[in-house]
Amino acid sequence: MTESAVVKTINAVKSAFRGYYFKPDMVEAPDKMEQREFGYMQFGQPGMVRHLSFKSMKELTATIMKEVPSDIYCSNAYYRFPTYPMQEKQWLGADLIFDIDGKDLHLPCVPSHSYPICTNCGHASAPVPDEKRKEEHYSCPACGGKKADDISIPCAKCIEGSKREVKRLVEFLTGDLGMQRSDIHIYFSGNNGFHIHVSDEAYIPLDPQARSDLVGYLSGSGLMAESIGVRKGNAENLFFIKFPKSGLAYGWRGRVANKLKIDGSSMIKLKHIVEQKGGYAAFKADLDRMTRDIGVRIDPQVTTDVHRVFRMSGTLNSKSGLAKIKCGDNIDSFDPFVDACLLGDGKLSVKVKTQVKLKLKNKSFNISKESAELPAYAAIYLICKRLAEAS
Ligand SMILES: [Zn+2]
Ligand SMILES: [Zn+2]
Repeated sequence: MTESAVVKTINAVKSAFRGYYFKPDMVEAPDKMEQREFGYMQFGQPGMVRHLSFKSMKELTATIMKEVPSDIYCSNAYYRFPTYPMQEKQWLGADLIFDIDGKDLHLPCVPSHSYPICTNCGHASAPVPDEKRKEEHYSCPACGGKKADDISIPCAKCIEGSKREVKRLVEFLTGDLGMQRSDIHIYFSGNNGFHIHVSDEAYIPLDPQARSDLVGYLSGSGLMAESIGVRKGNAENLFFIKFPKSGLAYGWRGRVANKLKIDGSSMIKLKHIVEQKGGYAAFKADLDRMTRDIGVRIDPQVTTDVHRVFRMSGTLNSKSGLAKIKCGDNIDSFDPFVDACLLGDGKLSVKVKTQVKLKLKNKSFNISKESAELPAYAAIYLICKRLAEAS
């Protein structure tokens, strides 16, 4: 991209974002905002402006209108002195937040809508089928560069996949941990996933280790064979069956028992299952695979980091131009490509880098020409995905 095209493109996105933030009450006010740290990113500039504090939404809105940031964040943590350096802020606690990202689910549809974009020159190519991808190393047709970012235009299946994980997480949180459904708030991340915020005060003081233990439980790592009744014998690979006194009905025991089709009276059956697998060690490895498969795919780092800043609800995501917004009670009826697609539909001329398909606001676009005039929401989406530039 030439220097003037970069400036023109940034200005187009900035102007669309400014139009969005100009509307009243788009950004959701966080609880106890005076105790939180805020930060934002600027268009065309690396690094985050951090350690900011705002006493009111009016103050925050004034800064947003003045700067028109590309991305706006606030801490999940509460601090006595939010603007001080990290070691001097005096941490008071942090909201519990989970991140489910479509890219971590490894869905089979992803290669068909992932566009390699050269990290050196920005050249975009058509998606490469999965089989070919493994054989060939990337080589940029324009500059010969060997590195590319895979930019995905998530499809309906990707969103379905993420929603399935969200529902599983909610089941764990309410069923196993006894949280109230009304304390669990689901947000679309603004690109390809969901953030789940828990407003139950009891979790605010948890330290990183406790949050990590929670992630371990939810993702199904480290369940012991003993806890479902398979106990290690005296010699290598020997075992015996003794069910736990509290039974196999609840939590992880219930899930595994269900999968193995056993209950508290199935001693012989379980013995056969373990023998068939090849003994204690083999069963243990198999159990580990099974529980990870049943567990929820959450990003462990996001939940355990108590000093992180999170994208604010109601702000735009510069990776897509979509908004991070609350999904409402029924996640099934939430469609991010309609409900979070909130930019205007005035026409914008763009130069599209490769043939591309997308669907936004229930309208399908199949763009094969280099120059196109698109509604702003679609043009900005493609620019944010680095698949187009303003012309
Ligand atoms: Zn290149
Ligand atoms: Zn997909």
